[in-house]
Amino acid sequence: MKRKHLDYLVPFLLVCLLFLGSWKLANHFFTKELLELQEEFLTSNGELVIQQLDLDSLDSDKNQHAIEDFAKKAQDRITLLDTHGKIIFDSTEPNLSGTRENRPEVKFVLNKNDVGSSVRYSTTLKAELLYTAQPIRSGDEIVGILRVAKRTSAFQSKTQNFQRTIFTILFLFYAFIYLIICYLTYQRNRPIETVLPVLQRMLAEPEKSNYVMQNSSQWQELYVTVNQISEQLNETYAAYTSTEEQFSTLFHELTIGVFIIDTEGRFIMINPAMEELLQIGGASQHYYWQVIQDNKFIQLIQQVLVDKNQVHQEISAKLPDSMNLDIRLRYIENELKGDQVMGTVYDLTHVRRLEKIQRDFVGNVSHELKTPVTSLLGFTETLLDGAKEDPDLTEEFLTIMQNDAKRLQRLIQDIIELSKDGSDLAEDRQALELNYFFQQQIDLYQHLLKNKQILITIDGAKNCFYQTRLTFFQPIIKNLLENAIQYSTEKSQIELRYRLTDQLVITVTDHGIGMSKSDQKRIFERFYRVDKARARHSGGTGLGLAIVKEYSEILGGTVEVESHPKLGSTFTVTLPNN
Ligand code: ADP
Repeated sequence: MKRKHLDYLVPFLLVCLLFLGSWKLANHFFTKELLELQEEFLTSNGELVIQQLDLDSLDSDKNQHAIEDFAKKAQDRITLLDTHGKIIFDSTEPNLSGTRENRPEVKFVLNKNDVGSSVRYSTTLKAELLYTAQPIRSGDEIVGILRVAKRTSAFQSKTQNFQRTIFTILFLFYAFIYLIICYLTYQRNRPIETVLPVLQRMLAEPEKSNYVMQNSSQWQELYVTVNQISEQLNETYAAYTSTEEQFSTLFHELTIGVFIIDTEGRFIMINPAMEELLQIGGASQHYYWQVIQDNKFIQLIQQVLVDKNQVHQEISAKLPDSMNLDIRLRYIENELKGDQVMGTVYDLTHVRRLEKIQRDFVGNVSHELKTPVTSLLGFTETLLDGAKEDPDLTEEFLTIMQNDAKRLQRLIQDIIELSKDGSDLAEDRQALELNYFFQQQIDLYQHLLKNKQILITIDGAKNCFYQTRLTFFQPIIKNLLENAIQYSTEKSQIELRYRLTDQLVITVTDHGIGMSKSDQKRIFERFYRVDKARARHSGGTGLGLAIVKEYSEILGGTVEVESHPKLGSTFTVTLPNN
């Protein structure tokens, strides 16, 4: 049963008990009083009867008549007994005989008391009677006992009205008391009944506004305070959830790997970037040594867990791929949630690779520059040392120096080209009629083509316009054509094909020296040359195909090669048509 109901039921039962008790008590006292009054009345009646009796001969007819008369008038039952309690005469049954010495009221008188009384059921009259017995004295001597009895119904019926009144008064009184108790209980419980559901709703739905809508002058302050708390909770919860959301978004979107492990070594939190680094999904709740495959990394975590300090180190780890990781681990003491280790892991693999590429590039550039510059210096020194006096030698040296200078120029041009990344240049989009454009590019090499007796054919639709950024598109074609001519055998043919649909596919096929599969994988690297001596001799910088690849990617496309040694090569550039 609910406490609320008990609050009303217990007082109800108590009030009922009190009511019944009071009713019984009042009845008891009233009945007692009534009996005493009746006893007095019957005793005085007895006195009157005794005064009329002839005490010298109690069993005389005169006495019988006197008793009969009185009994009839008073509607009492009067019994005359001798000093031993034996019946001399009974007004209701004149022939009644026997002894009544055992009746309580008679016994009382026989024991030398004044007046005895008792209420009992009379088998003679088949009714409840109030009996009083009193001694009949002649001088100081007791000569007999007079018993006067009256039906209780004769006087009790008169009391019923009174009892009813008492009952009604008591009932109304206690009903009133109970109502007051109910009112006080209700008043006492009111704030609980009003506030408790609101507090429970506040707990269950902290995101919603919950208010006490009641008005009460007595509890107004409480209600206002509860409403203020609800509002504050609402605001705090909103702020908390938005911070939580922001944190969760940040945690998930971070490109740096972040994780938290407890002192047991279990992942409490791990973000997707970290899972990606570890190449494992659902790492949460796993032990770090089950998930991390690199011993050095595991040792670092163990060290922080034991020393309770922080560590910052760059390691090359196998997770399972080789990676350069910048790891920061920090031991966090937290009394509430237990101590934790928080780790941030930054993948430096790409950065380190770029740095290496840059270093290699600078090394390569220096190396490439060194040869022509050394040559130039050598020849200028030789000329200055006297060779300039010989006109033939001077011309020969100057020609070599010119070639070296041209090579330097090409190299510098290519390096400048490679430094363009597409974003720092103004939009230079223009529509090209492809057939015309390719023909123009081929015409630039007419002299070379004639020398090597090479024929270049163009295969593709005429009046085909293609929107592109010329700054990047032109070097792609230029380098592919240059290489095709460069590495073609004499008297051979080069085919340039193009097809424009939702993308532009250009293929340049030569029937030259071709290259092996392993070289095909590397020719797009900067400064990679299959045959270094030959390439240098031909004036190649080793940057041409690197430019083709990077520019194709800047334009959103790809470049591929298919080649067979001594048979020739086909370069395919695929660019989007937009
Ligand atoms: P280079 O300026 O030396 O030509 P590239 O980057 O253009 O530099 O080419 C790299 C290397 O790829 C060249 O040295 C050459 O060995 C090889 N190569 C390029 N194009 C062809 C081709 N069409 N046929 C055969 N080998 C080629």
